[in-house]
Amino acid sequence: MPKFRVFATCHIGDAAENKLRERGYELEVYPGPEAPPKKLIVEKAASGIDGLITTLRDPIDAEVFEAGKGHLKVVAQIAVGFDNINRADANRYRIPFTHTADVLTEATAEFAFFMMGALARKMWPSELEVRENRWGSWHPFLPFLGDEVTGKTIAVIGTGRIGLAMIKKCVGFDMNILCYDPAYQNHQYIAKIQKLMDQRHQSGIQKEQTSIRYVEFEAALRAADYVSVHVPLLREGESDTPTYHLFNEKTLRTMKPTAYLINTSRGPVVSEQAIYRALKEKWIAGAALDVFEREPLPADSKLRDPEIADRLRLYNHFASAGKIPRLDADPDTGMAGRCAQGLIDVLEGSYGGDISKMPYVVNKEAFQASP
Ligand code: NAD
Repeated sequence: MPKFRVFATCHIGDAAENKLRERGYELEVYPGPEAPPKKLIVEKAASGIDGLITTLRDPIDAEVFEAGKGHLKVVAQIAVGFDNINRADANRYRIPFTHTADVLTEATAEFAFFMMGALARKMWPSELEVRENRWGSWHPFLPFLGDEVTGKTIAVIGTGRIGLAMIKKCVGFDMNILCYDPAYQNHQYIAKIQKLMDQRHQSGIQKEQTSIRYVEFEAALRAADYVSVHVPLLREGESDTPTYHLFNEKTLRTMKPTAYLINTSRGPVVSEQAIYRALKEKWIAGAALDVFEREPLPADSKLRDPEIADRLRLYNHFASAGKIPRLDADPDTGMAGRCAQGLIDVLEGSYGGDISKMPYVVNKEAFQASP
C-alpha cells in the first residue's frame, strides 16, 4: 500500500520525484508542460490525495481546499512566491502550504544583476548588429552607446532574501545603494556592507567612497540610476503596503529619465500599461522584465513594440532557472528538493508533528498553539 497519494501539477525533476516514490508515495504528475486547468486540480483534490505539489501558475483557493476536505493535508509549492495561493483560505481550512525560499536567492539576485548589465550596456542590440550583419566599422559612438553600472546608484526595493543578495553583488561594482522596505529593515546587514565599502575604499580597491542606507520610496526613485525590485506580490487587503502596481505612471515618472528599472519579482508589481508609456515616451531610459502581468506574455502584448525594443529586455520568468537551484533533490540546494521535503515534513509529521516548527511551511500562524 502506498504511504501517501500526491498529485503534482508539474514535473519537478526525476531526482526529487524518485525520492518521494522511494518512500512509497504514489505520485501522479500532470504531464504538462503547460499548467493543468483549475478544474483538473479541483478534481484531483477531490479524489482523495494527501498532498498537492503546485507551481506559481496554479490558482489554489477555497474551491481546491473544499474539494480536498478530510484528506488533503499539504500544498507544496515549488517557488518562493506564493501569491497564487490564497493564504486566508488555506488558514480557514487549516491546510499548511510550503515554499522553496533561500535555495533560489543567489540565482535570482545574480540574474537581476545580469539583466541590469545586459540592459544598460545594450548587449542585445550589440549582438543583433553582428547577427544581422549590420556591423559597420568600429566607431567611437556609432551605432549607439550604453551606460555603465560601475560606480552608479542603485535603489533596491525590498530588502528580504533576494534584495540583500542583490546588494552584496552591487558592492563588487562600487555602487552606491539606496534601500527601501517598509516592513523589514536589516540594519545589521547594511552596517556590514558599509564597512565593506569603507574597507574597499581605504585599501584602494575602489576609487570613490560609496555608501548604503535606508531611505523613503520616493527618495530612492528620485536618486537612483537603477531600480531593482525584490518584493512579493501583495494585493490590496493583503498588506498595509501592497505592491500591486507599485510601479505605475506616478512612480515611474518619479524616476530619473536616465534611470533603468529591473523587475524579477512578480509581473503585477509593475503596471504594464504604465511601463509601456514610460518607455515609449522616454520617461525612463529602459527596463528589463523577467515577469509579466500575464504569463506567458500574450502574443499581442504592446511590450513587443519594435519601437521600444532597444530599451526593453524581456525574459521568460527565468531568474531562478539555474540547473542546481531548480532541480537539485537536496533541500539545502534545490527548489525540487525543498519542495519534496516540505511535503514530507507535513505528511510524515517531522518536528514532532508541530507544523508551526516546520521550516518550509509558510502559513505557520494557522498552527501556532494558542497562548
Ligand atoms: P522576502 O520575503 O525575503 O523579501 C521580500 C521583501 O519585500 C520583504 O523584506 C518585505 O518586507 C518587502 N516588502 C513587502 N512589501 C513591500 C513594499 N510595499 N515595498 C518594498 N518592500 C516591500 O522574499 P524573497 O525571497 O526576497 O523573494 C522576493 C520575491 O521575488 C518573491 O516573493 C517572488 O515573487 C520573487 N521571485 C521571483 C523569481 C523569478 O524567477 N523571477 C525568483 C524568486 C523570487
